Amino acid sequence: MSETVFDSAAARAEVLGKIARAARASGRDPADVTLVAVSKQQPWEPVAQVLAAGQQIFGENRVQEAQGRWADRRAGVELRLIGPLQTNKAKDAVAFFDVIETLDRERLAKALAEAVQAQGRALRLYVQINTGEEPQKAGVRPTEADGFITRCRDLYGLSPEGLMCIPPADEPPGPHFALLAKIAARNGLGRLSMGMSGDYETAVRFGATSVRVGSALFGPRPAA
Ligand SMILES: *Cc1c(COP(=O)(O)O)cnc(C)c1O
Repeated sequence: MSETVFDSAAARAEVLGKIARAARASGRDPADVTLVAVSKQQPWEPVAQVLAAGQQIFGENRVQEAQGRWADRRAGVELRLIGPLQTNKAKDAVAFFDVIETLDRERLAKALAEAVQAQGRALRLYVQINTGEEPQKAGVRPTEADGFITRCRDLYGLSPEGLMCIPPADEPPGPHFALLAKIAARNGLGRLSMGMSGDYETAVRFGATSVRVGSALFGPRPAA
């Protein structure tokens, strides 16, 4: 057994405290911000600690890894897919996840719509926006966001509940969070998934309704 370097239950309490303070400081109700614990690539022990501490919402970035970890522990847990989704895994993802945060292209919208129809499952969706227009990053370009959201609704009958972004690693995140909030507002979307371990308090100040926090809860991810 390796030594536990990190007390994840204590880390969770600290993160929740910081979320609450950031919310109150910007005139928001802390209850309006959801903590998504990003358990991808983490060993089970710290994940079990936050589960025992009451954490019920988890983020994973790969369909198969999530199935392997959560299939037998699915009850009472909300699972969110926060990593890129291949069209050929859309069915599996719809069957397994409660929320998919990475709708980023029309082919995927079509595949998800078909899977939702076939499975009769209520799926919650976020459109991922590439706010930094980084070529290597997934997400719809900001200038194409309005048209994409409209097509999701009108052509595929999908009703995204919000937008998600991952700002460029080497830029201040604030302007990206502000841009995401603006695109959401003009499209009538009320939810914003933004903010990770390094910037979740900033994200809350810019209106995040959920933050996706991994290493601040569980310690650094072990090298793959
Ligand atoms: C890994 C990941 C996170 C969590 O990152 P941390 O810096 O460990 O908090 C959040 N969002 C996405 C999309 C991720 O892939």
